[in-house]
Amino acid sequence: MKIANTADEAYAHIDHWRREGQRIGLVPTMGALHQGHLSLATRSCQECDITAVTIFVNPTQFGPHEDFSRYPRTLEQDLKMLQELGVDLVFTPSNERLYPNGYSTYVSPPDVAKPLEGVFRPGHFRGVATIVLKLFQILPANIAYFGQKDFQQLVVIQRMAEDLNIPIRVVGCPTVRESDGLAMSSRNRYLDPKQRFAAASLWKALSAAQQMLLEGNREVKQLEEVMQQTLYREGAEKIEYARVVDSHWLTDLTTVDRPAVALIAAYVGSTRLIDNIMLETSQKQRHS
Ligand code: AMP
Repeated sequence: MKIANTADEAYAHIDHWRREGQRIGLVPTMGALHQGHLSLATRSCQECDITAVTIFVNPTQFGPHEDFSRYPRTLEQDLKMLQELGVDLVFTPSNERLYPNGYSTYVSPPDVAKPLEGVFRPGHFRGVATIVLKLFQILPANIAYFGQKDFQQLVVIQRMAEDLNIPIRVVGCPTVRESDGLAMSSRNRYLDPKQRFAAASLWKALSAAQQMLLEGNREVKQLEEVMQQTLYREGAEKIEYARVVDSHWLTDLTTVDRPAVALIAAYVGSTRLIDNIMLETSQKQRHS
């Protein structure tokens, strides 16, 4: 497994493989890897000849009062896991290398970045779009793999790739969950045992909305209400949003009359958790 710390090194590897006609998969991450990240890398290894993973805690996507400095960093362990998986290249640049003194160019993200996370984390998707575009330039892969766990992020990147004619296919992969439904996340390690129990409230709330829809109630207000009630009952402390929106444009809906997604952002203790579910309107359509 090759490890590159500079953009030039990383580009040279990818360029070499591309000239050989190899199909290249890219998996951007912030490290502190868990089975969710590994599922993306595994999929890339299955579908591509070469898999490149990036590990970079991107400062420009964190707000001033967010957890950038305490975000978990477990590089040695991460590299071991990726090596075992058969990953070909890991790009682990420093902040100074990606954002040197005088850095001043940012991507203005598409409109799908405005609601939901865009309201509660202003500037977040500007940072995400900027780093992802930089990574796409440094590692010009054929396919890039992102998790549906960060659903709005996936939609923002797909939109950006389409709008800016980026020749990389952006693929969304299913959310990997713990046995009680909690979506795996690097931030789950902030939770103490009581909070860890309460963190399952997000999946319980999403499941309650899905169940209500399957029972025939398509009213968005009522679906959102059942999510709120379930979250508070099951131990979430502060809800930022619990919404049902159009899954393509992330716009408001009154009834579920087109493809829709339910999304939640809520605090358990001081840990901010997000999760979502693509809503199905009939039992037959359900795959998992
Ligand atoms: P992060 O390191 O949190 O920036 O995540 C890196 C990539 O892994 C993103 O595309 C995430 O959506 C994806 N990811 C994070 N958690 C999960 C999960 N539980 N299941 C699937 N993908 C995930």
